[in-house]
Amino acid sequence: MLKYLTVPVTPFAQNCSIVWCDQTMDAAIIDPGGDLDRLQAEIKRLGVTLKAIWLTHAHIDHAGGTAELAERLNLPIIGPHPGDQFWIDGMVQQGKMFGFPHCEPFTPTRWLADGDVVQIGQSQLNVRHCPGHTPGHVVFHSPEAKRAFVGDVLFAGGIGRTDFPQGNQAQLVSSIRERLWPMGDDTVFIPGHGPESTFGEERQFNPYVRAP
Ligand SMILES: [Zn+2]
Ligand SMILES: [Zn+2]
Repeated sequence: MLKYLTVPVTPFAQNCSIVWCDQTMDAAIIDPGGDLDRLQAEIKRLGVTLKAIWLTHAHIDHAGGTAELAERLNLPIIGPHPGDQFWIDGMVQQGKMFGFPHCEPFTPTRWLADGDVVQIGQSQLNVRHCPGHTPGHVVFHSPEAKRAFVGDVLFAGGIGRTDFPQGNQAQLVSSIRERLWPMGDDTVFIPGHGPESTFGEERQFNPYVRAP
C-alpha cells in the first residue's frame, strides 16, 4: 500500500510529499522545493530509501530544490510535462525574484505525459496532464490509496493562479472537471498549499469549479 507524509517547505509553505511503498520501503519525493536538510532528516526518520524525484510543475516553490537533491543523492528526475521547460530555464531568475538560494535549472531524466504511469516499489500512480496553472503541470493519482497529489491545480476552496505566462483559467477548470473529478468523490487530494480535501467536497462547494 502507498503511504505518504507531507512536509510544508519554503516560505510558501509548499506541501512536499514523501510517498513510499510499505512493502519495499522505496520512496519518491514529490516537489522538493527547498529545505532539503529537513526533508532528508524526515526520510531518515521514516526509514525509507529515496529512489526518485517526481515533479508536478516547475515553479520554484515546488522544484527549487530539485537540482541539488538530485545531485546529492544521485536521483532521477521524473516530470513534469515538457510544457514547463520555460519555467525550468527560468529557475535562476525565479530564485532571485523570490530570494531562494541554490536554485539551478535541471534536465528531467524522464518527461511525463497524460496517461503515463510512475512506479515506486509495488505501488503505481497514474499521471494526468492538467494544464492551466502552468502548461506542463501534471498530477499523480493512486487509485489504490484513493489519493491524488495535485500541486497547484486545485486547493481546498480554491484553484491555482492563472495570471502567470501561459496560465489559462478556462483550461485549468477543464483540467479539474475532466481529469480530476473522474478519480472519484471519495478521493483525497493533497494540494500544493494548505489542507487536504476530497474531490466530492470541492465538486459540491468550491465556487470556482462546482457544478453550475
Ligand atoms: Zn505553482
Ligand atoms: Zn505552489
